[in-house]
Amino acid sequence: MVQFTGGCLCGQIRYSQTACPEYPHFCTCHMCQKWTGAPVVAWADFPLDSLTWDGPGGEPTMYPSSEETRRGFCPRCGGTLCALDEGSTTICMTVATLDDPGAVAPTSHSFPESAPAWLEVKSRPS
Ligand SMILES: [Zn+2]
Ligand SMILES: [Zn+2]
Repeated sequence: MVQFTGGCLCGQIRYSQTACPEYPHFCTCHMCQKWTGAPVVAWADFPLDSLTWDGPGGEPTMYPSSEETRRGFCPRCGGTLCALDEGSTTICMTVATLDDPGAVAPTSHSFPESAPAWLEVKSRPS
């Protein structure tokens, strides 16, 4: 059963998830900042085999941001959707591309030392 749906800004890349997310977290590392243009990104891991790319554009375009990580985006609108580590059985999805971003609350914060000093990030302890 589909639990979560989401997609990019233009709607070309859409996804559905039949499983619940794990490890919802904020990240303020410089790679996430450069990739999205946002000072903080909310992420959640979903089992890879629970994911279906079901929009008209199929799968996102994958950009290799490091040796072991590829980041998926929409080639039409540039929407930043996912990150996939080599050999991983989970895929990290951007919480804000969910149709209901309020459904997944980040419980931790990675790379707080790279957050801009003016930014206040408040994760909810699980
Ligand atoms: Zn798009
Ligand atoms: Zn990051």
